[in-house]
Amino acid sequence: MGNNPSYVWRSIIETQGVIKQGCRKKIDSWYWLLEDKGQFSVRSCYRILRGEEVCVDRMLWKKIWKLQLPGKVINLVWRAARNVLPTTVALQGKQVNIDVNCEWCKGAAETAVHVLFECSFAREIRETVGLYSRVLTGGNDSVKEVLKQAFTTATNEQCALIGVICWCLWFRRNKWVWEKINSSVFGIKSMALNMLQEWKKAQEETCKSGTGVHVHTRQWCPPPEGWIKINIDASCRQDSEYVGVGCVVRNERGEFLRARTTLVQGRSYAREAEALSLKEALSWVKTWRTQKCIFESDAKLLVDAIHAGHSNSTFDTIVEDCRELIKHFREVLVMFVLRSANNVAHSLAQAAYSMSGPQEWYHTAPDFILCNLALEGI
Ligand SMILES: [Zn+2]
Repeated sequence: MGNNPSYVWRSIIETQGVIKQGCRKKIDSWYWLLEDKGQFSVRSCYRILRGEEVCVDRMLWKKIWKLQLPGKVINLVWRAARNVLPTTVALQGKQVNIDVNCEWCKGAAETAVHVLFECSFAREIRETVGLYSRVLTGGNDSVKEVLKQAFTTATNEQCALIGVICWCLWFRRNKWVWEKINSSVFGIKSMALNMLQEWKKAQEETCKSGTGVHVHTRQWCPPPEGWIKINIDASCRQDSEYVGVGCVVRNERGEFLRARTTLVQGRSYAREAEALSLKEALSWVKTWRTQKCIFESDAKLLVDAIHAGHSNSTFDTIVEDCRELIKHFREVLVMFVLRSANNVAHSLAQAAYSMSGPQEWYHTAPDFILCNLALEGI
C-alpha cells in the first residue's frame, strides 16, 4: 500500500481487525457479540473504532446482574468467569502438589471450563435440559468466553438456566471431591430446574410489585453472627384433626443444626395451623436457653398478629400463647419470609403426616430435606 495509504484503505484494514474482535465462530455462522441479538451493526463497530473499548465484558456482567439470579449463583458465575474457582489446576498454580485430572471423568485437567462445560457430566446435563447447542466450548476457551458466546443468543430464561446449572455442577463437584457423594444426572437436573422455577416465580413477584423491594427475602439468608434462625411452617389436610408442623434450625453459616416434625391436634385452618407451628417451635427451642433466636414464617398474617394487639378468636388465643412463650427468650425476633425462602420447613411440615410420631434430627439432616437445604445453602 506504500508509505502513504489513503485514509479509506487504512479504515478498511482497521475495520477488519475490529470485526475479528467482535466475532466468535459458532458452528458455521458468525455472531456479533456487541449487539443483543448477535447481529452485526455498524454502530457497535464504530463504537470500537472510536476507542470505546470492547465492552463485551461489561455487557456480560450487566446481563448476569440483570438476571437477578440468587446471590450464590451470581457469586459462583462471577468467580468462574474470573477464573478464581479452586479447581485442581488453580490449586496447582499455587504450588499445592496434586493430581490435576478431573476427579470425575479423569479425562482432562480440571479447569473451571472443564467442570462447568466440558466434563462428560456437564455435557450430559446440558443435553437433558435442551441447552446442548446453546453452549459451545471451543476447546481452550475460558468460562468467560463460553458464557459471552452463549449469552449473546440465549433468552433470559436460558441464561438463567445456564447460571443455575453452573452452580449445581460446582455443588456436585464439591460433593464428589470432598465427600465422595455421587449425584445422578437426574438429581442435578431436577435441582437446577427447581432453582429455575424459583427464579421464574421471583421474576413474576418482582413484576407484580413493580419495584423488586422483596428481592432480599426471596431467598433464605443466614442470621447475623451469634444468632440462630428457626424456619417454621405448617401443613393442613381438610379431613384431618391434626396439623403437621415442621421447623429447621440453622446457624450464621447456614449450617444445619436441628429439625423437627410432628402432628399437633388442631383445627385445620391455615392461620391457626401457622400459629400452632410457631407455638410448637417456641416451646421446643425455649428449653435450649439459646440467647438469640430469629423465627421465620411465611405466614404474614401470623407475623403481623404477633406484633399487633389481640382479640379472642382461636387464632388469637394461640398467638397469645406464643407471646407468652416469647417472654422466655432474651432476644427473639419473629419475621416474615416469602414462601420461596421457606422450603425446608415446608417439607418438614408436610412430612409430619407420613411419620409414626414426632421426629427430631440433630446434626445430620434427614434425606428428604437435603436437596432443599442445599438449595437454601449459602
Ligand atoms: Zn471431567
